[in-house]
Parts: sequence; C-alpha cells; structure tokens
Amino acid sequence: MTTDFARTNRKVLVTGSTGLLGSEILALSPGSVGLSSKECDLIESNHAILTLEDGQVDTVIHCAARVGGVKANTDYVADFFDDNVKMNMNVLDACREKSLKLVSVLSTCIYPDAPYVKYPLTEDQLHMGPPHHSNFGYAYAKRMLEVQNRAYRQQHGCNFISVIPNNLYGINDNYDLNSGHVIPALIRKFHEAMIEGRSEVIVWGTGRPVREFTFARDAAKIILWLSENYDGDEPINIGNPDWVSIENLSLMIGEEIGFEGHVKFDTSKPDGQYEKPSSNRKLRSLGWKGEYTPLRDGLRETIKSFADRYPGVRGIKIKT
Ligand code: GDP
Repeated sequence: MTTDFARTNRKVLVTGSTGLLGSEILALSPGSVGLSSKECDLIESNHAILTLEDGQVDTVIHCAARVGGVKANTDYVADFFDDNVKMNMNVLDACREKSLKLVSVLSTCIYPDAPYVKYPLTEDQLHMGPPHHSNFGYAYAKRMLEVQNRAYRQQHGCNFISVIPNNLYGINDNYDLNSGHVIPALIRKFHEAMIEGRSEVIVWGTGRPVREFTFARDAAKIILWLSENYDGDEPINIGNPDWVSIENLSLMIGEEIGFEGHVKFDTSKPDGQYEKPSSNRKLRSLGWKGEYTPLRDGLRETIKSFADRYPGVRGIKIKT
C-alpha cells in the first residue's frame, strides 16, 4: 500500500487538467499528461484518449465536467445534464477500449436531499431519492456516471472507480460571479469592495446553509492515493467533514482580506441545499491517514494566490 500521498507510480492522464482539481492532480504527479478542453472537447470526441500510444498512460483521472455554482446549475440545467452525459459516455468508452484504469469524480451535491437521506451522507445512499431541485440536471448526469462505472466493471471487467468530494476550493478556481462557487465569488466580492472603498458586501441567500469545504490539493492527494489503493465498485466519499455556515464563511473571508465593513444577505438569491454533510469513514477504513488542510489555512493560500494573480487587487492587506 502506498502511503506517500503526493507520489504515484501510475502513468496518469488528467481530464479537465486546467481546472481547480485537475491542475492540482497534474502538479502532484510529475510525468502525468494533462488534457484540457482546449486540446480536446470531450463532449464531441474521445479521439485524444483513443490515440494515446500503448503504455503511455495506464490511468485516467476524469475531472472534466461542466460545473458551476447554485445559480448556473439552475439557469442551465439542461446543458449541465447534456454536456456531462455526453462527456462521460465518451471518456468511459475510450477507457474501456484502451483497458485503462479510470477514476471518476462525482460530488456530494448529487446525493438525495432531505428527507430521503440520513446524515452524514454515506455512499450507500447515493441513489435513495431525488437530488435537490436546484441542480437535478448535473446530479442525475453524475449519478449516471456512477452507474456506468459499475456496469462496465460488471460486464467488461473494467477497473473503474468513483470518488465523491464535497465542496472544493483552492488556487485555480473560477472567479466568475454568476457561474462560480461561493468561496471564489466571495473572495472576489470582498476584494472589489476593498478596492472600490465600499463598506457593504452582498452574500447570496440567508447565510444559514452549511457546507463542508475541502482544499482541492487535499482532494488531489486522496484521489491519487485511491488510484493506487482502491479497486471496488462502491464510490468513496473523500471530503473534509468539518462544516461551516455560509454566514461564518463570509465573516472568515472578510477577516482574512482585512475588510472592515458589513455583509448583507440577499434572500432573493437561492440558498440551494440546506446541508449535505458527508462521512469519510469508508476512506479512513481503507487506510487513508492523511490530514485535511484547515479551512482558514486553505483560504489564506487561496486569497494570496488570487491577489498575486490579479494586478487590480494590489493594496489589499493579506495576512500571513
Ligand atoms: P452549492 O454547494 O452547490 O450550493 O454551491 P455554491 O458554492 O454555489 O453555494 C453554496 C452556498 O453559498 C449557497 O447557500 C449559496 O446561496 C451561498 N452563497 C452566498 N453567496 C454566494 C455567491 O456569491 N456565489 C455563490 N455561488 N454562492 C453563494
């Protein structure tokens, strides 16, 4: 069993390699090959996987997906369904054809919503009821990916596994305010308020929902470890089970950025699911002994990289 989480002997191809999670996996596994949507649109074609030279790659970590925050998931519900189903069909088909190991990345937001599940969410409850209405297109597409994984294992003997992170954040996120998730959106909103000298930041919803956040680099390490150490048909929850309310998250981000104004909750915007706490007991029982990055430390690194990357935000006080 491999215990060095940042190393893998596998020859990995990462789909979605410029994204939040894919870029961390690529950075942690020297010699791996990245495949971004610019190089190959996996919705249209799996040519890039089918034409890999024999022996060049033995594992595909499939991070590519059409993803977005609570608003984008509702506004483009059909696109989220279509694009993800097409992409997953293409990727799994090519991995079967080339006899590659495959790790598919799902998300805790695809679990059934209350009252159909018992918290914390365990892997056996994935198909026990409908997902939350705000993201049903994305959720059912990802659930079908898990079904397809199991079906291919059973009929074709494929070494395909699925992992389920919770809300990811980190240094390579999508900072678009409409399509992005809460952490990058709030980092950007607080930064812009500071630059423009505003004393108010708008946070969507009531602030009462709670979320578990996992630093993308932690998820990348766990996925690489599982790619070597797991070969089973049940998906594995991999997220940090510590939770925080959106209100406290916004106060934490404001504090880290040095914002001294106040937060206003815009209840005309969606809250999404109230909660989706997940259990990582199965991951632990497989022997994973790593620690998760505490939220405040991960936020600090994320905020610093945002400020370094965007020249317009010079002058922000970044705590070290
Ligand atoms: P979700 O876990 O799929 O709901 O993903 P999000 O990251 O989009 O939203 C998480 C929570 O943060 C929801 O309760 C949102 O209402 C809340 N939230 C507060 N402000 C924002 C914001 O500016 N952008 C987003 N995306 N969510 C926000």
